Amino acid sequence: MTTGNKQHTAFSFEVLPPLRGKGMESIYRTIDNLMQFNPVCINITTHRAETIYSEMPNGAYQKLSVRNRPGTVAIAAAIKERYHVHTVPHIICSGFSAAEIESELIDLSYLGITELLLLRGDRAKDENRFIPSPGGHAHAIELCRQVNDFNEGKLLGGVVTTPLETPFAYGVAGYPEKHDEAMNLDTDIEHLKAKVKAGAKQIVTQMFFDNSKYFAFVERLRREGIDVPVVPGLKPLTTLNHCTMLPKTFHIDFPQELAREFEKCRSNADVKELGVEWGIQQVRELKAAGVPAIHFYTMNAAFSTERIASATF
Ligand code: FAD
Repeated sequence: MTTGNKQHTAFSFEVLPPLRGKGMESIYRTIDNLMQFNPVCINITTHRAETIYSEMPNGAYQKLSVRNRPGTVAIAAAIKERYHVHTVPHIICSGFSAAEIESELIDLSYLGITELLLLRGDRAKDENRFIPSPGGHAHAIELCRQVNDFNEGKLLGGVVTTPLETPFAYGVAGYPEKHDEAMNLDTDIEHLKAKVKAGAKQIVTQMFFDNSKYFAFVERLRREGIDVPVVPGLKPLTTLNHCTMLPKTFHIDFPQELAREFEKCRSNADVKELGVEWGIQQVRELKAAGVPAIHFYTMNAAFSTERIASATF
């Protein structure tokens, strides 16, 4: 996997596919502005199908399963082609069967895209716990094993073919403040260790706002013998609702200094300024500590990400 070199902390940027029916213009605009920072890669998220109810002409409702942000594989190919940059599509278990995942892997191998981030994926919005798709995986580790098999030419249904000339290399997710469903940090780290043992070449972390949590996590992983790069994931704060939504959704704490500053914000514009200042401080400290790369969650924060990257590149 590409994680930059020792002299320079590389940046990577994560973008979301456009909403169903929208074009690629806003993604291109975002990447046009971020290419000046010579990103080590651009990640593209994947979003599962969700259930919607659409009204029919007779007034009855029809239940449909719809992907609001489709197109990850095609977007990865389009960005690679246009910017000559490594692209890393996220492959998720959620909402996909193993057979559908295999088709994605086949498409990606034809496209010459060989770096992946393997994830379980978020649960469906109308479910209160993660339920695997029929014929799908319950945990990211099973996806790691499927990709390992695919690399060796072992396809589903017992079909064996030649191993891939350029096997897929993959990263996985890690959670400095624990995954929200994990019983405790110890078991969460055991599960992370299994993914690394299976072959993950790097760990990309959940967002955090307190660098000390990241440093403690890395130290802990090293003690456990996990020695792959741990790439910190950062998200610029941009809206007033982030102070409740982010801790609740992602099981992360705001450090007290940030919480105090957040309480003074009266508008989204105030939060954006705070998010940029805080992000710059975080990046400076992480760079000084020699992290291998920094991954920015750019979703809805492209301009803030650009300002943070400009000040710290
Ligand atoms: P897992 O590794 O499967 O872990 C999930 C939970 O199960 C954890 O609590 C873990 O401790 C536990 N666990 C793991 N293995 C086992 C086991 N064998 N037995 C019992 N318990 C186990 N979501 C998307 O939908 N699309 C994206 O594009 C996306 N991109 C992301 C990018 C990054 C960098 C990160 C950090 C997250 C991203 N997510 C994305 C969110 C992610 O899918 C969720 O956090 C999801 O809930 C967990 O994914 P995981 O790969 O960590 O799952």
